[in-house]
Amino acid sequence: MPECPNARVPESAMLRQRLCGALIVRRMPHAEAPTLLRESALQPPSPAMLQYLTVPVTPFQQNCSILWCDETREAAVVDPGGDLAKIRAEVARLGVTLKQILLTHAHIDHAGGTGALARELGLPIVGPHPGDQFWIDGLAEQAKRFGFAPAEPFKPTRWLADGDQVMVGHCTLAVRHCPGHTPGHVVFHSAQAGRAFVGDVLFAGSIGRTDFPGGDHDTLINSIVERLWPMGDATIFIPGHGPESSFGRERRSNPYVAGT
Ligand SMILES: [Zn+2]
Ligand SMILES: [Zn+2]
Repeated sequence: MPECPNARVPESAMLRQRLCGALIVRRMPHAEAPTLLRESALQPPSPAMLQYLTVPVTPFQQNCSILWCDETREAAVVDPGGDLAKIRAEVARLGVTLKQILLTHAHIDHAGGTGALARELGLPIVGPHPGDQFWIDGLAEQAKRFGFAPAEPFKPTRWLADGDQVMVGHCTLAVRHCPGHTPGHVVFHSAQAGRAFVGDVLFAGSIGRTDFPGGDHDTLINSIVERLWPMGDATIFIPGHGPESSFGRERRSNPYVAGT
């Protein structure tokens, strides 16, 4: 398998695993059942809640997530890197209506299926930040390099910037620009659901690689400390690969950011 454009793996893990092995062997716990964030149907009427289902796609087991508003059942797909039939089957099974594609960044395993899905379903493409234009321009080259099927080119309908908001039905996602892994990487935060979709910025026990063009280690650490940690230690994050974790847990135990 070629090296994959996502995570650093701690040295100890490197002894046992290939570069990405530690991060891709586990299926997301939510792959079979969606995460339903309402606790009881008996509660009085409450505001719309964001729900999600994570679907690992591509040979890199990238965590594509389907997000939806449980009031309108309008949905967004975050990072449709490939395996579009699998994504569309889950959308159909959930009975939600896909309205938009959201991108955290433009690496092939996250953005490779975007052009085809947008064309097939007539969906707008929201994100990433313009700093990733060169990665979008280079999708064909990325596909060749990592052994992916050719990716259809695309143009984002709406670029994102730090502080923007994206609506999924009646649910609001806050956008934070988190450069370092790529210059135009963004993350999506639902304060109400206590969830953040962080792409390849941060992983359970690891952080994103910074050795690709436009990557920078100090910038990545600053993004994590200044833009993720303020979301709160209790926030559960869905990384681009591997299992979920919380920011508090990473602040305690992740060797790359412990104590920050
Ligand atoms: Zn990735
Ligand atoms: Zn990446």
